[in-house]
Amino acid sequence: MNPTKRKQSGAIGTVILFCIAVVSAGALWIYFDEDVARKLKQEAEIQSMAVIGDVATKRLASASGEGTHGAAVDLIKRPIEVRKVAENIHYATGVGNTIMITTSEGVVLFDTGLVIQSANQLQILKDTVSDADVRYIILSHSHADHIGGTRFWMDEGTDIIAHQNFEEEQRYLSELQPYQYDRNRTLFPWMPAWEDRPDIPLMRYGGIVPTITVDDWETYLFTLGGIEFQVIGAPGAEGADNAVLWLPQQKVLISGDFFGPQFPQFPNIFTMRGEKVRKPVEYIKSLDRLIALNPDVILPSHLDPTIGAEKIRKGMQRIRDAVQYVHDETIAGMNAGKTVNQLMKEIKLPPNLELVQNHGRVDWAVKSIWEYYMGWFRFESTTELYPIPAQDVYADLAQIAGIENLIALANNYLIQGEPVKTLHITEIALAGDPQNASALALRDQALVELLERAENGLRNDYEIYWLKSQLDTAP
Ligand SMILES: [Zn+2]
Repeated sequence: MNPTKRKQSGAIGTVILFCIAVVSAGALWIYFDEDVARKLKQEAEIQSMAVIGDVATKRLASASGEGTHGAAVDLIKRPIEVRKVAENIHYATGVGNTIMITTSEGVVLFDTGLVIQSANQLQILKDTVSDADVRYIILSHSHADHIGGTRFWMDEGTDIIAHQNFEEEQRYLSELQPYQYDRNRTLFPWMPAWEDRPDIPLMRYGGIVPTITVDDWETYLFTLGGIEFQVIGAPGAEGADNAVLWLPQQKVLISGDFFGPQFPQFPNIFTMRGEKVRKPVEYIKSLDRLIALNPDVILPSHLDPTIGAEKIRKGMQRIRDAVQYVHDETIAGMNAGKTVNQLMKEIKLPPNLELVQNHGRVDWAVKSIWEYYMGWFRFESTTELYPIPAQDVYADLAQIAGIENLIALANNYLIQGEPVKTLHITEIALAGDPQNASALALRDQALVELLERAENGLRNDYEIYWLKSQLDTAP
């Protein structure tokens, strides 16, 4: 290369370098600007959500109604506070907890609560625990009370870890939202009416895309700031997309909704508000995995932790054996030719496996295990195959039987302590004469009787809310 060429190429090189420098600075500026813009937008969203959330929470909290331990109506009344589980583990209380694990390299979150409470949970955790970058958000499952604040917590490069089925569960829950809304409102009557709910994009359910997924009983392991995290796919509990977090160095199991709001309790392997059938055998298999971990602490996404390895081991074993027992008894009864209704009546937990049933119930679990294996055709009546239910002939039946006779029969059943039979007969009578005062009164008496039994018996929240909703809608 001669000197002129060298000079030229030197000049070209300088120009190229200069161009690269300008482009890089521009790119950096654009990048920086976008990041700043994203942060500003997120900040504004959090501020708006805090205001919307305060109004919504106050309205919900002023709603009447009392529940049993862990009922949603009690949860909404809990103040949002920060509680400490260990030096590096805190959670913000609410309907759903937002759990924060701090490390020297940033924070890890587990669940992000209900959207209307998420801004307050975020602010209190950032103010009192840590405002370091959020490196991972682990979501226990796709229910709205566990993922509401996710968008507000996202930093540049935050990974979202969830079960492989998360997106599919989120999809069908989004698609069926209008249908499920009425059912939810019947069972959670303090929820605001649809028409009172402003359609605020910030509050909309769904749209979360995990960047890392775990499959059933698979573990995703990572270490951050010297702390080991194990995200375990634990199907069979709430939904088909359950994941839990295990911190092996501290022996803390962060359990989401795996056990329900109380520990120990009979699990909700069926949910009355309606959802895809849950799989009892998967639940047992997941529980076996968790029992083998031998946790010292269980930190759930509702209410407070349970502490003590012995107490936890016994509780988990009891839940496991109770579900196994109900499952095996249902199978045995089916093979012995018993109907699903017979089995619902007969199968009871033995005294050594007794558990509270205010969330999940044994008889409903029997029915759902039956349906899980057999689907909807019970082989009991040809009429099951056709879209003409018994109710379609009730009005004619009432006319032939005579309303007075039906009322006498309904009354007899009530006196005999058979309020469900009273309901069957009053449904027939009311099909013939919808305003009949005696039939309406008997129906209400039967409902009151069932409500008293529920309140003095299992105290199942969903049964109580259902019965109350039926009394409220009485004309
Ligand atoms: Zn929940």
